[in-house]
Amino acid sequence: MKKYLYIANWKMNMPLLSACSFYSDHQQELERIAALPHVELVLCPSYVALSPLHALREKNSHIYLGAQNCASHNQGAYTGEVDALSLAHVGCTYCIVGHSERRQLYGETDAVIAEKITLLGQYDITPILCIGETQEEAMSNRTHDILSVQLEPVLKMQSIQSIVIAYEPFWAIGTGKTPSFTELSILFNWLFEHACKHASWLNVRLVYGGSVNASTIQMLKPLPFIDGFLIGSASCDFSMLKNIVE
Ligand code: PEP
Repeated sequence: MKKYLYIANWKMNMPLLSACSFYSDHQQELERIAALPHVELVLCPSYVALSPLHALREKNSHIYLGAQNCASHNQGAYTGEVDALSLAHVGCTYCIVGHSERRQLYGETDAVIAEKITLLGQYDITPILCIGETQEEAMSNRTHDILSVQLEPVLKMQSIQSIVIAYEPFWAIGTGKTPSFTELSILFNWLFEHACKHASWLNVRLVYGGSVNASTIQMLKPLPFIDGFLIGSASCDFSMLKNIVE
């Protein structure tokens, strides 16, 4: 049975206590859905909630923890940054990098994102690399060119073994809009072939993100080459997340 990745990106929408009660209030159900044979569930809370959630998780928990970002340096005078090693110490096995909000609001470049991926690889944390185009770029048929540029530094890397590539059109994030099944089929076909051609040694999983909810998931799941979903706002509500995953 095919396993789908469900990545819950809580962004800055779940303060520490909400993040902890999300887990403790629904622990049994969360563990049950996370253990389903077709499911790999990754929760990505804020940095400060990682350690408490790691402590709350049972030893044999089926839930994976991911960070939403990491520093592009291992150590040093980088006020406010969090290094990949510390993420590994608080139980992270995944880390989102290059989210469109980081690219747009904090000016993260593909080169900086590639540095982060290299460091994550050193600590066996699987990077979840977000790529995507703006509405304007989509309208001018530049999607594949934009994605090729965003992927280029990463697909050259020999130092990582596996990566999750999250295709998230900027215009679909938090807007309720999603590309059509046909548009996504073409896109995922292209992504699959592009990754095979440029990085055949790399274990690549392809996921989609952008307004995923319990109804859009019906259209998204049968897409060719899709290995999972990155879920933003709907993942902050336990029953919505459960409906998506089940
Ligand atoms: C996201 O933050 O990556 C995202 C996909 O958000 P939403 O599901 O709310 O569109």
